[in-house]
Amino acid sequence: MKGRKLLMIPGPIEFEPAVLAAMGAPTTSHVAPDFIEVFGQALERMRELFLAPDGQPFIVAGSGTLAMDLAGANLVEAGDKALVVNTGYFGDRYGDLLSRYGADVTHVRAPIGQRPSLSEVEAALKSDTYKLMTVTHVDTSTGVVTDVKALAQLARNYNVLIVVDGVCSIAGEELRMTEWGIDVALTASQKAVGTPPGLALVVAGPRAMEAFQARTSPAANYYADWANWLPIMKAYESRTPGYFGTPAVNLVAALNVSLGLILKEGVETGFERHRMLSRACRAGIQALGLGQVPVSEELAAVTMTAPRYPAGIDVPAFLGHVGAGGVILAGGLHPEIKGEYFRIGHMGPVSRGDILATLGAIEMALSSSGYEFDRGAGLAAAMAAFT
Ligand code: PMP
Repeated sequence: MKGRKLLMIPGPIEFEPAVLAAMGAPTTSHVAPDFIEVFGQALERMRELFLAPDGQPFIVAGSGTLAMDLAGANLVEAGDKALVVNTGYFGDRYGDLLSRYGADVTHVRAPIGQRPSLSEVEAALKSDTYKLMTVTHVDTSTGVVTDVKALAQLARNYNVLIVVDGVCSIAGEELRMTEWGIDVALTASQKAVGTPPGLALVVAGPRAMEAFQARTSPAANYYADWANWLPIMKAYESRTPGYFGTPAVNLVAALNVSLGLILKEGVETGFERHRMLSRACRAGIQALGLGQVPVSEELAAVTMTAPRYPAGIDVPAFLGHVGAGGVILAGGLHPEIKGEYFRIGHMGPVSRGDILATLGAIEMALSSSGYEFDRGAGLAAAMAAFT
């Protein structure tokens, strides 16, 4: 289509035509039998995607920040101690959010592009009695991935609830909620889940629900209160109507289509595809002589890449040149290094062709910026990584 560009930012992403068709279908009543079936199925599919057979799914209209808020508002009571495993911008946000509910927040931080070591997190867990710990699976401001499996084990050892902000990970990065012992995992519709922005998606495990039931005060957020939403989720899943706030009917229908496509590909196959595409993208960036924000391969997410600009580039013009090549990429987000790097999202229904189109547009933009490099090297490295 003339003028249409490929959207390769870390959310929102490119959506499948069938998902967009569901967005455009006539809106039904939120208590119509066909919508009750769709909502119920979407809840069941959430459990499958999160690999959380014993989890309680919540689908609520709002963005990823509301998903963070649902966990924060329902698990924190004033005076509770919370530990934030902080790898960037969204760790800072989680700390701020938890303190609004009266939590006493401690951050374990790492230099930009790195993550706190397990021994640093363990030392923090030993030093105080925390109720919960939050972990950003992939911090979208740095592209650093955390070792959620090992952190969940630590949380279990110290009897601390673990909340995983999987907004930039779920349906891309490997995450096994029940097997790894994660108490809450959350995301938003517009990322790897592949549905337009507007839904907060949360799965709470049994320990999180027990902690919620054991509260001595009601959640200090009316809209986010699980006491309001739990009966609604249970009703739709048992295929009966319920009402607290009008659900985002078309978004829920679109989500159900997207979840169906994700499960049809297979969750494990999807993890592997994300690993393969990200390897290729990073290989291409490296072959062009560009550095990356995560300081090592092991720390780099599979859902996004955060390349550093080479020296001497006209940064404000660069993404415009990429756009002229037909691809939309994102600028930096971390306030301390904002002008030093850009971000490529490769999550959801991304193909090898999308990675090649992106690297091609980056190569053309580097040429237009006067950067000297071996033309085609990025594309060749990506193609080699595919095979
Ligand atoms: N956490 C992470 C890791 C994110 O990447 C984002 C969004 N980029 C959010 C939370 C917040 O999500 P939203 O913008 O949908 O509120």
